[in-house]
Amino acid sequence: RKFVFVTGGVMSGLGKGITAASTGRLLKNAGFDVTAVKIDPYLNVDAGTMNPYQHGEVYVLKDGGEVDLDLGNYERFLGVDMTSDHNVTTGKVYQNVIESERAGDYLGETVQVIPHVTDDIKRRIREAAEGSDVCLIEIGGTVGDIEGMPYLEALRQFAHEEDEEDLLFAHVTLVPYSKNGEQKTKPTQHSVKELRSIGLQPDILVGRSENELDAHTKEKIALFCDVPTEAVFSNSDVEDIYHVPLMVEEEGLDEYVMERLNLTEEALPPEER
Ligand code: ADP
Repeated sequence: RKFVFVTGGVMSGLGKGITAASTGRLLKNAGFDVTAVKIDPYLNVDAGTMNPYQHGEVYVLKDGGEVDLDLGNYERFLGVDMTSDHNVTTGKVYQNVIESERAGDYLGETVQVIPHVTDDIKRRIREAAEGSDVCLIEIGGTVGDIEGMPYLEALRQFAHEEDEEDLLFAHVTLVPYSKNGEQKTKPTQHSVKELRSIGLQPDILVGRSENELDAHTKEKIALFCDVPTEAVFSNSDVEDIYHVPLMVEEEGLDEYVMERLNLTEEALPPEER
């Protein structure tokens, strides 16, 4: 099984979810079973109690789960039905850890963020991925947020536990323009530096920008963030988000991901090759 982790830098609402869902759609088109997990680092157990004016619509799943609206994008892009287990929140994680502690499951241990909370996070990701070839995991918020730290630590451990070819880290950042019309890479460099300081090195970078990233910008990002230039992709503004899969396909994002994860035709069941 393959895991694709998607983090975001610079600011929230960048398009991490759409980037992840689009990548998933292309992998599905290639014949793979794809699922997704959305991680929301807030303390609410689910989105059902959140103000829609502040948070957007509450998306209701078939199992009755009231979840983040991003799950709606995943269901629509991937054509799959998801369950509440595909939306991990800090509220759910802590509720379970604390209930287990009260039930005596930790046999007198001191219950801590590492390893107990991080173990619960990793277990949830692995369980939600069951039955799929590829699981996309989107970490809500922005790298550097205090609430996101236990998740990024869990990802670091995850990478340590899995084979290198089964795991890919994609980082989505903002590439703004300066007043003289130049694409600026500094915010991207800073957010990758932040990721590395917690032991995570992205494999691919996706620059959200008004227009396509130019060759010079891609080279600069590659050099400073230590990835090959072919691993830097544009996700520019489009009028309709359903054009994003086509745009990233043109950029070659799906091919790069499949090659990196060794998702070859042989990995498919014979009837789907
Ligand atoms: P995040 O997961 O980073 O919070 P989302 O994927 O939910 O971000 O996207 C945030 C908003 O930006 C959504 O309203 C989405 O429709 C829009 N968006 C995402 N990608 C693009 C794009 N390439 N062009 C235009 N709008 C986009």
